[in-house]
Amino acid sequence: MIYTYYRHFYILHLLFYILHFKKASTIFTTNLNMPKIHSFSPKCKFTVLFHILKVFQMRYIIFLIALIFISLTCSPRSVRHFLTLNEVEQASPNAAQLKTATSGSQNSCANQLNYVPDANHLDHSTLRLVRLNFHIMRNGKGKGSFKKAEAVQYVKDWIREANKHLSKNSEMNLPVGNNTPLLPTNYRYVLAADPSIPGDEGVYFHNDDELCYFVKTGKNKNNYVKTHFTKYGVQKGKVLNVFMVPHHPDSIASKTYKPTKTGIAFVREGAIKVAGNYHHYTTPKMKNGKPFNRGAWYFHGIFNHEIGHVLGLHHTWRSNDGCDDTPHHANCYSQNRKRKECIDGWSNNVMDYNTHQNSWTPCQIGIIHRNFAKKDAPQRGLLVPTWCKLNPEKNIYIDENIVWKGAKDLEGHLTIRKGGTLTVNCRISLPKNGKITVKSGATLILDGATLENDCGDQWQGIIIEGSGSSKGKVVFVNDPVLTDMENPLEG
Ligand SMILES: [Zn+2]
Repeated sequence: MIYTYYRHFYILHLLFYILHFKKASTIFTTNLNMPKIHSFSPKCKFTVLFHILKVFQMRYIIFLIALIFISLTCSPRSVRHFLTLNEVEQASPNAAQLKTATSGSQNSCANQLNYVPDANHLDHSTLRLVRLNFHIMRNGKGKGSFKKAEAVQYVKDWIREANKHLSKNSEMNLPVGNNTPLLPTNYRYVLAADPSIPGDEGVYFHNDDELCYFVKTGKNKNNYVKTHFTKYGVQKGKVLNVFMVPHHPDSIASKTYKPTKTGIAFVREGAIKVAGNYHHYTTPKMKNGKPFNRGAWYFHGIFNHEIGHVLGLHHTWRSNDGCDDTPHHANCYSQNRKRKECIDGWSNNVMDYNTHQNSWTPCQIGIIHRNFAKKDAPQRGLLVPTWCKLNPEKNIYIDENIVWKGAKDLEGHLTIRKGGTLTVNCRISLPKNGKITVKSGATLILDGATLENDCGDQWQGIIIEGSGSSKGKVVFVNDPVLTDMENPLEG
């Protein structure tokens, strides 16, 4: 508990100083004007001095006690201290003054729309980093796919191209004339090496005749088998494992087989398989008489699409994907003037089959971030835990009436400033040493909320500023849970 009495100590110090000055000048004056004092015996001098000091000492003690008493009883409560339980205002869920602020129910924590970034307060959302590693499947002789150096470069290019589209979300093509808000996707990919493997880069090579190729049909069909993951997966559950499985050379040689870019997602495992990279990398198309290389950039769409499945998204054109902003449509691959429905009706959404795959709707972004925020979701396990270490650049300041209806992992301190009211309905994780400050004239309403540190550490606690009627206010509704605090609430 912090009690800041510095003002009182300052006054006390000043008074002591005056008293000292008075005492010193009194002795000095006495000595000057009473020369007889010099004729006292040493013993007598000592006794006189002792009595003088005793008197002054008594005065000091009485003065000190009086001032401490005054500061404890008469002055307002400290201006900055950790919240105590008896300062908390308990409110019923139906209290009229809270109705508008707590319109969200506890179910709000599972609603994807409550995880859509707030366009007016983009700093309230967190950029998530998804860890990836890559597996290059080759035949038993180590052939049929990328060599080591070119694979590592390809993988880095692939991540860069996919991230480029994630960072430049495009407006939706559909429905025609739509005004769907364009919001940041707020997630990116990072290559994740295994710290337990010396010199590891997060790119692995597997020479395996049985699992080498991507087979879509026939008795050797293996596109849906999970064996690649179970046999070769690295950092399972912590890193999204990407398997690059080439088309079979016999299939490619067939005139009827199309070695297209294609893929499969394994949501629970946190893995994807993609086929076609090596074929397109090594087989340039001729365009205007010149070779046109379809390298890593060409696979950004399928990459974001398959990872979109892992992160919780579904196809949009005919299924119920849980979003109202992704309309059903004819699933045209691109604009096709020979097909009436494809003249204007082609999609650019990442979860359709189209040539663009570069648009994420607010609802789709919400689904992904709901899964990232859900503590037992497999998607959360794939993230770099950026919420564990305090980052002062990620401090959040609340100046208005704000309601957080979805869970959040804060990376910096949270401050509610004068005139601001923050209502928290779900879980909030604070980083180690992170704190919440409720400034003078500000309000924090914890409505069924959980405040915690999700890294096994402690956050500092809630600091209240101000005094009297303008003191920062904290309101509890629906039994919030506050845990992992260095300064827990005391009565
Ligand atoms: Zn798909």
